[in-house]
Formats: sequence, C-alpha cells, structure tokens
Amino acid sequence: MKPYSIAIDGPSGSGKSTLARMLAEQLGFLYLDTGAIYRAVGLYASRAGAETTDEAAVTALLSRLQKITFRHEDGVQRVYLGDEDVSIAIRSPEASIHASHVAANPGVRSFLLDMQREFAENHNVVMDGRDIGTVVLPDASLKVFLTATAERRAERRYAELVARGIEEDFNQVLTDIKERDQRDIERAISPLRPAADAVILDTTELDLTGSLDALLDLAHTRLGLGGGV
Ligand code: C5P
Repeated sequence: MKPYSIAIDGPSGSGKSTLARMLAEQLGFLYLDTGAIYRAVGLYASRAGAETTDEAAVTALLSRLQKITFRHEDGVQRVYLGDEDVSIAIRSPEASIHASHVAANPGVRSFLLDMQREFAENHNVVMDGRDIGTVVLPDASLKVFLTATAERRAERRYAELVARGIEEDFNQVLTDIKERDQRDIERAISPLRPAADAVILDTTELDLTGSLDALLDLAHTRLGLGGGV
C-alpha cells in the first residue's frame, strides 16, 4: 500500500515545524522539516563566501554540498551538514535570510526536489515547508495550509529566539517576517500559496494544543488515522 503523506505548508512562524513534528509523533510517522534543508544550503553557501542572492554562484557550489542528514539524538531531531551538527547555526536570523535567498533559486529547488520526494516514497511522513502540497507531494494524502497574522507569528518567533538565547529586537523580527513572507509569496518559482485542495487552518487564536487537536481531527476525519479528538 502507498504510504501516507501529510503536507503542511505555510509562512514562517505559523507553527508549522512544531506542529508537524508533534503530529508525526502522535501518528507514528517520520517528520521532515524541509525548511531546515534550505537553511543548511544557505549556511553552506554563505560560509563558502557566496552572496546568497547570486543564483549562479550558489548553483555552482551545489556539486560540492556536503550531505544533509537528520539524526535523532535523545529524542531530538538534529540537522547535520556533513559531520557537523548545524541545528543551532541554521536558526540564526542571518541564516533565515540566507535560506530564503537560496530558496528562491531554481537550481537549488530542483536539486532538493528528489531528496524530498525520496523521503516520502517508503515511509508514512509529515513534511512541512512552503511548496509541499503544491510541488513536492502534489498527491499528498492530506494537505494543510497553516496561517496566522504576521504579528502573532513574530511573537512566536521572538519567543523561540529568546528561548534559544539569541538576542533580537521584536520589531526587527516582525520586519524580517514580513520581508520573508513577501519574498516567499512573490518569488517566481514555487511561491508560497495554498494548494487548491489544501485545508486552511488559521492558528492566530489557537494555542499549540488547540492547533494540534485540529490537525489530529483532520487526520482522523480525512484519513481515518489517529482516533480523533
Ligand atoms: O520554514 P523555515 O523558516 O525554516 O524555512 C526557511 C526558508 O526556506 C523560508 O524562508 C523559505 O523561503 C524556504 N523554504 C522553501 N520551501 C520549503 C521550505 C522552506 O522555500 N519547502
């Protein structure tokens, strides 16, 4: 039988990654954070000295990109670039900006497409990103588009940075989120938009538990999974 795949797309700070990970845990599925892959490529390109907006320069570096892998250590998913654990480095504000630059690069997107599809070939998966329901897994069993206002998303991102000990000004976080939204929505390739058959879930007024319950309910009613809430 074809494995189940659940695509969760949406703008940054909509709660995608946290919710997708929790949903996968509840359903016993594998979880793939595709944003982390773009972040690792952005980090690699910037370290290699490329302007991450320079499409040709970044594309030329891809043949030398170290393998990006996910490893579970003490119940936490860590991201590796070659042998280096880059889980923290890819979350800095600069890394976010580099990620959104390289994500607008068609060479990078096609390079990463097979890697993402292969992941869903043999496992039940929850994948989160921007174009999972529209491009990566157009036949996903369930597609969800998570949204929330930019202000609410900036509050969440700010709290996340504080918890990680990264100092940043709230207004700067909000500005970055809005700029990143604009780049993600307006880019020519794989722009951020809901798939025609995606369920739109607005989490502005929902906390984590409420959002997870809504997702579990969808998995239950649409796929007959998880027992519902
Ligand atoms: O979700 P996250 O904020 O970690 O994503 C980092 C960047 O990677 C985003 O700004 C977005 O431009 C890009 N991205 C993408 N397609 C995906 C996942 C992430 O373009 N499937």
